[in-house]
Amino acid sequence: MLIILRQGDALKDAERVRAFLARSGLEASTVDLGDRLALSVVGVNGSPFPANVESLPEVERVVPVSRPPRLAAFRDDDPPRGVRIGDRAVGAGRFAIIAGPCAVEDEGLLLEAAAAARDYGADMLRGGAFKPRSSPYSFQGLGARAYEMLARAGQETGLPVVSEVMDQASLSAAVECIDLLQVGSRNMQNFNLLRLVGRSGKPVLLKRGMSATLEDLLLSAEYVLSEGNQSVILCERGIRTFSGHSRFTLDLSLIPALREVSHLPIVVDPSHAVGRREGVPPMARAAAAAGADGVMIEVHPDPARALSDGAQALRPEDLARLVPELRSLVAGAAPLRETGA
Ligand code: PEP
Ligand code: MN
Repeated sequence: MLIILRQGDALKDAERVRAFLARSGLEASTVDLGDRLALSVVGVNGSPFPANVESLPEVERVVPVSRPPRLAAFRDDDPPRGVRIGDRAVGAGRFAIIAGPCAVEDEGLLLEAAAAARDYGADMLRGGAFKPRSSPYSFQGLGARAYEMLARAGQETGLPVVSEVMDQASLSAAVECIDLLQVGSRNMQNFNLLRLVGRSGKPVLLKRGMSATLEDLLLSAEYVLSEGNQSVILCERGIRTFSGHSRFTLDLSLIPALREVSHLPIVVDPSHAVGRREGVPPMARAAAAAGADGVMIEVHPDPARALSDGAQALRPEDLARLVPELRSLVAGAAPLRETGA
């Protein structure tokens, strides 16, 4: 159980709630959520959890986290450190902007996108090599060749590169070239793949399945973490709802909900959620304001000619406008978590 305390005289409140729990034989440890404290009660061990804890004046609410995940959940002896990718970091106070085309289409276009990403202040370059397309007749990506192009673009610009892996074969090709391995929405519950990327030892960007709950997402992260790989970044990319005005519905409420139960950084992909270029900057700004640790945004030098997802791709000049807006939003935001990556 995680008992989230109201903002106030945090230490005294924590002591009072701890004393209350002690009367029921429960021990609690303190968790620093940055702007408030929480008390974590583990090993409830048959002692009934007092139902009236939630009505104590010091308590905002009680979040049940007694079931797994364990490694993806908060540990107060292990404060959030963020995830390092090369010389960049995501989380624990570092806001990362990942930009680049949906798919690597040819080396010239990729280098153009990479130069724009670097010049306009992005931290990492994205580009799909193996594309999980809904239709087998759509462009499927250039495959392993695209990983090599990404590695060269990364070397040229100094940006770490991010690309999706789909199976053992693509993973074997990616490990030499790719700095941050992406597991896509459609593979979030491909448990064999999760174990494999866990064993690769490389940082992993795990995208939320389009119908996955918060707990499903954390349990998938748990597969990677349980292989000894602590470098996991979660990514909200929109879920299926009844709405027809956007491709998916961007669930920004996931961010504060995750903060309460997990130390893992969370990045938001507004491009795949919204599906239309015009909607991407507002939702990227909303993600930054809601406390995301970064955004992943599709950018193409010539979206009208893109082989996939052109309608949602920003033009380089759109990225140039968006990056400073995001940086100033993050600088002005109240810290949700302790910093110090
Ligand atoms: C992508 O980021 O390239 C992608 C395919 O996204 P998702 O898995 O979220 O659909
Ligand atoms: Mn795409």
